[in-house]
Amino acid sequence: MGRLGTESAFEVLARARAMEAEGRAIIHLEIGEPDFDTPEHIRDAAKAALDAGHTHYVPAPGILPLREAVADFLERTGRLRTDPGRVIVTPGAKPIMFFTILALCEEGDEVILPDPGFPMYQSIVAFSGARPVPVPLRERNGFRLDPRELASLVTERTRLLILSSPHNPCGSALTHEDLEAIAALAIERDLIVLADEIYWAIRYEGSHTSILDFDGMPERTVLLDGWSKTFAMTGWRLGFGVFPPALVEPVTRLVVNSVSCTSAHGQHAAIAALTGPWEPVERMVAELRRRREVIVDGLNRIPGLHCLRPEGAFYVFPSIAELGLPASEAERLLLRRAGVACLAGTGFGAGGEGFLRFSYANSVESIRLALNAIQATFADL
Ligand code: PLP
Repeated sequence: MGRLGTESAFEVLARARAMEAEGRAIIHLEIGEPDFDTPEHIRDAAKAALDAGHTHYVPAPGILPLREAVADFLERTGRLRTDPGRVIVTPGAKPIMFFTILALCEEGDEVILPDPGFPMYQSIVAFSGARPVPVPLRERNGFRLDPRELASLVTERTRLLILSSPHNPCGSALTHEDLEAIAALAIERDLIVLADEIYWAIRYEGSHTSILDFDGMPERTVLLDGWSKTFAMTGWRLGFGVFPPALVEPVTRLVVNSVSCTSAHGQHAAIAALTGPWEPVERMVAELRRRREVIVDGLNRIPGLHCLRPEGAFYVFPSIAELGLPASEAERLLLRRAGVACLAGTGFGAGGEGFLRFSYANSVESIRLALNAIQATFADL
């Protein structure tokens, strides 16, 4: 257990909630979830499924109509042609990373993961006994990994490479050229890739590009995705993975050993999400784009801060290096003095020192209030 980490977003959220219970007003820019309601047709499908008696255990890897709907959706959206038999549905997308890493990694293995990156990658890899090998994402490279640097980190022991694009916490996205070079490396060095594409639909510049677009990659890639972000369904706990054939049976066994299956009525709602109208997603992305402009421009006006414009997801990752205080100190200060909950970049790896992560899944009005409070707090340093 000593090797298992945690996610600072949930810790800061708990601290912020405790302050709210004491009467403090807090602006929440810490937790990574859309503040939009799940679209009505999806909620209706869940209610209808409950009324129709979908209240029992279902097959461990997911009900067939949903696995088929996932395969169809991936093909329709131009992402991947796959057999529904390779799709596994889980309660949220997190189990996809947990099960993939547990199925593949053990002591003596190495796993390359982005730094800064989603903190669970490093936590679960360490838990499995394997060694996390961070690949730096540098601000001067637009927070994208450098494929040459990545190649220098691959050894005989490298078992898995974890990619996330669009990226949490930086909002960056890998380019076609980056992915082409990474795919060639994965094939040459016989690596398995975990492609975390949970933010694929939330793109502001260009369209989504995937490592799966390259020949030879679908056979060696686990695609991680789900409903949480695209359809504003974080609390429903619905995710899926598409696995290379050899991993389907072991991962299904992990599902049986841990959660048995994913909620039956939720899976019917998930079908409605994939087959229903796409405008709610477009509306959400348009609103997030508007907020992105407000927060990026606002942060860049605060002396001592600078902030790149994210290409996807709903996070900004401004540098506070010029202020000369550790990111964890800035996180505490902003919560206590400004009433703004945000996350220190170090919650995402050592490479996050000197940065803060703000989620802009909050109203423009709240973002403007937060910007004023942040500016006033830092002006007082
Ligand atoms: N992957 C990344 C990069 C995330 O940021 C998150 C959630 O914050 C997840 C996966 C997990 O998503 P879910 O809520 O579906 O488990």
